Amino acid sequence: MKTGIATVSIAGDFAAKLQAIAAADYDGIEIFEQDFLASDLSPRAAGQMARDHGLEVLLFQPFRDFEGLPDPLRARAFRRARRKFALMNELGTDLMLICSSVHPQSLGGIDRSARDLAELGDIAAEYGVRVGYEALAWGRHVDDHRDAWEIVRRADHPNIGLILDSYHTLARRIDPDTIRRIPGEKIFFVQLADAPAIQMDLLYLSRHFRCMPGEGDLDITGFLRAVLATGYDGPLSLEVFNDQFRAGLPRLVALDGHRSLINLMDGVHRAEPGHAVDLPDMPAPAAIERVEFIEFVTAPTDAPRIEALLETLGFRLTGQHISKAVRRFQQNGVNILVNTEQQGYAHSAFLSHGTCVSEIALVVPDAAQTFSRGKALLAAPFGDGPNPGELDIPALRGVGGSLLRLLDDHSTLSGLWDVDFRTIGPADAGAGLLAVDHISQTMPFDEMLSWTQFYTALLAAQKSPMVDVADPEGLVRSQAIKSGALRVTLNGAEARRTLATRFLADSFGAATQHIAFACDDIFATARALSDTGFAVLPIGANYYDDLDARYDLPADLLDRLKSGNILYDQDENGQFFQLYSRPFGDGLFFEIVQRTDRYEGYGASNAPFRIAAQARLGKPVTIPKR
Ligand code: MG
Ligand code: MG
Repeated sequence: MKTGIATVSIAGDFAAKLQAIAAADYDGIEIFEQDFLASDLSPRAAGQMARDHGLEVLLFQPFRDFEGLPDPLRARAFRRARRKFALMNELGTDLMLICSSVHPQSLGGIDRSARDLAELGDIAAEYGVRVGYEALAWGRHVDDHRDAWEIVRRADHPNIGLILDSYHTLARRIDPDTIRRIPGEKIFFVQLADAPAIQMDLLYLSRHFRCMPGEGDLDITGFLRAVLATGYDGPLSLEVFNDQFRAGLPRLVALDGHRSLINLMDGVHRAEPGHAVDLPDMPAPAAIERVEFIEFVTAPTDAPRIEALLETLGFRLTGQHISKAVRRFQQNGVNILVNTEQQGYAHSAFLSHGTCVSEIALVVPDAAQTFSRGKALLAAPFGDGPNPGELDIPALRGVGGSLLRLLDDHSTLSGLWDVDFRTIGPADAGAGLLAVDHISQTMPFDEMLSWTQFYTALLAAQKSPMVDVADPEGLVRSQAIKSGALRVTLNGAEARRTLATRFLADSFGAATQHIAFACDDIFATARALSDTGFAVLPIGANYYDDLDARYDLPADLLDRLKSGNILYDQDENGQFFQLYSRPFGDGLFFEIVQRTDRYEGYGASNAPFRIAAQARLGKPVTIPKR
């Protein structure tokens, strides 16, 4: 099936939009009339420019307020349509989208509208073009694809068909399975857009918050399954109005869109095999089995401070890379690498961001398969080539340019620690840190949807509803994603002065801001840490007064929380304990957590206290750069 995108979805002038769309490898475009009008190209030149980029002009849109008008408005609407048909001939496209009328004088009446469309069909035939009719969710008399279809059915004209748009159907909560009753050959075009589940006026939601399939909460897979069941095999095209995208980088938005279409078609194919979708050979999404290691890159002169911090956390130096300046610190199942290479990828990450997390290694059931799924989803593969005798571990570019390494337990990659590392000491139980509980990544708010989609398309993953975290200086949006043993929280920093924004600025866009380790006895861990001289983040007394007021905790538990600077949360599923390191580097920090029962959250209600405590400390304990 052909893939397309409406020019309105992308930032830039007409030429910049085409370049971005062509670079992301779509088959065609919908020309949004305003985008063409705002350019100074002739219609012929605009159409030619698209074709020169290898893009077919699939559709011209939108033609508004056509059907059901009384004269003389009706005659004027027909005259306007003729003008646009002539324009379409120049542009070189044969399909026009008419959306259902919102005109205050539109009379309604299914047969009146059907007669108007049938008459228009005759005129369209003179120009060799077709017309697709779309129900807007806020149309005056027609706001439902079932009514739009009834009008098209009664118009009964070969040049008149239906256009379906997932937003208009799903935002109004119309059952998409009603589409299965429509003959596929009468569906002329299909537009796709997702949206978040926010209670809002549908017009406002549509104009500002549409997003790529998979980035919102609508059941786009269910919608497309119904569409394909009709036998429809025309274009699938994105029509996304979104304030962030209109201010975003055109190429990234175009690429995200294409990735979302591939992921969507893959999802449809897996849910309902047998539909005619063209897909690259892509393995199924898999869940993460564990986080194998996290690598920090730093300067040789700064490494002793990070290594000392790791030692106060209970990590032991246990290995040394056979050819690189990379040291392995270990505690139970947790591995942290400290890389001080002066060349290659890690060094360039250090030059761009300072001390930062440069790689995260994830164990999946089959590393080669997850890697090839990533490539099919247009993720950037990364290869800096191993030295002879070392493993070639596949990697994809992740958030902030950091790397996601993919390992598994059944191929040669499982020999990582024996092949690439020399053992220099034993690991022990340390302070009781058992695993990586979650990884928190920070990004500009306008990239958040993009990375949410990256993780949820690549992996078998679930996302939780977005939550707002109050920083004293502004709001941070937080989205948690879980894939098997991997939990990631993505934080979108919007305001100028939040801690998250300052971290981004100070680290020049590094992604990982904190790493949380899991333990199974936070009080024992806190005692062990105080023996090693670990500098915990001090939490104010007001927090514990409030905790007492909220939860009515036993006095001795409250005392132990307070003396350990441990934060507490609970919900209907269980309890959550957290303690934090002081910030280091450009604002990195560690967290230690204990979950009881089935608590699945991240202590969001504690985040403002943590952020305030960090802010009270002023600048992080600095590791001087370079
Ligand atoms: Mg539409
Ligand atoms: Mg956390």
